[in-house]
Amino acid sequence: MNSHAMTSNAASGRILDLVVVGAGPCGLAVGAAAARNGDVSCRLFDRGCVTNSLLNYPYYMRFFSTARKLEIGGVPFSIPETKPTRRQALAYYRRVVEHYDLDVRQYEDVVAVEGVSGDFRVRTRKVRGGEESVTRCRAVVVATGGFHEPNWLGVPGEDLEKVSHWYYEPYPYWDQDVLVVGGGNSSVDAALELYRNGSRPTLVHFAGELDRGVKPWVRPDIDNRIERGEIPVYWKHRVAEIRPTEVVLRSDESGELTTIPNDFVLAMTGWRANPAVLLELGVGVDDETGIPVHDPDTMETDVPGVYIAGVLAAGHNANKVFIENGKEHGGRIVAAYDRPKTPAAG
Ligand SMILES: Cc1cc2nc3c(=O)[nH]c(=O)nc-3n(C[C@H](O)[C@H](O)[C@H](O)COP(=O)(O)OP(=O)(O)OC[C@H]3O[C@@H](n4cnc5c(N)ncnc54)[C@H](O)[C@@H]3O)c2cc1C
Repeated sequence: MNSHAMTSNAASGRILDLVVVGAGPCGLAVGAAAARNGDVSCRLFDRGCVTNSLLNYPYYMRFFSTARKLEIGGVPFSIPETKPTRRQALAYYRRVVEHYDLDVRQYEDVVAVEGVSGDFRVRTRKVRGGEESVTRCRAVVVATGGFHEPNWLGVPGEDLEKVSHWYYEPYPYWDQDVLVVGGGNSSVDAALELYRNGSRPTLVHFAGELDRGVKPWVRPDIDNRIERGEIPVYWKHRVAEIRPTEVVLRSDESGELTTIPNDFVLAMTGWRANPAVLLELGVGVDDETGIPVHDPDTMETDVPGVYIAGVLAAGHNANKVFIENGKEHGGRIVAAYDRPKTPAAG
């Protein structure tokens, strides 16, 4: 049971040191660093549960990182295997919250952040009931992750029920024709699991080969499936239209259209961060890369008192920052955090 009083502090006039927006693994690492510091008060808000993003991962996935590399706050992640499952990671990060008794407010959405260094007001709204409150703090850490919005295909039929940007498990797709869109780890893992569970997956990718980032230990398997025609691939093609029982693919080279029978579409096209909280605070965000302006040593942005942590710091390229390296941001932020003087009047 979270032992922290579930009330805001605006009325009491109490100001916290840090508020962290987002209780994913990297946001939690900020909270754990503050707890270890012992002198930095910290509250975290998440619009979902602790490490909500991990809920949306394939149910039976195994992390590519070892458990040790996913550890935060010095809390050992002890499992008999080398690499944890989604379920083990969910239980581990929850244990970190309990271990440090972190003040995490789940199902509370941060809807606005106002103010200046030394006195920010973080406005939140409870997901259930809509009750709003304001929390005052000296500095804000935005750790809202990179899974706000999928990279949409932008084609007719994308709103059909058979289309999903999430893949959880193979069972709904047994003996079905499934189009998997993309050439990265998510599409390769989904296609292999579907193939092994009696679905008929077909890959479509705008490039002429799989992404270089595909896990090396998975490559031989997927290359063999493709070579043997067990998983057909449309290289240098894109989805042109999705219909109830078929999809239309367009060749990037010739423009030729190909129609194939289809029951489901899994669009593993990646996700985008939503820097809205940062933009409202006046933080600069690079148009091209989507990277917020920040000092990588302190993670402080170009707005004093506003810090970023986690995959949000990678902009559009989520492969650059992940748990293994994003977890380090917490220690840097707490180390850099210097209690500012009371802001000038007016
Ligand atoms: C299938 C898969 C496998 C992966 N395997 C690995 C791996 O092996 N090793 C590794 O290092 N990384 C791995 N990753 C990447 C890793 O999961 C992410 O990099 C990581 O989740 C980033 O952590 P984060 O805390 O920055 O963001 P997130 O985990 O996305 O957390 C952000 C949190 O912010 C909350 N939030 C957003 N907006 C608001 C708001 N306005 N108010 C309140 N809360 C808000 C969200 O609900 C969410 O809980 C994998 C990713 C996937 C998809």
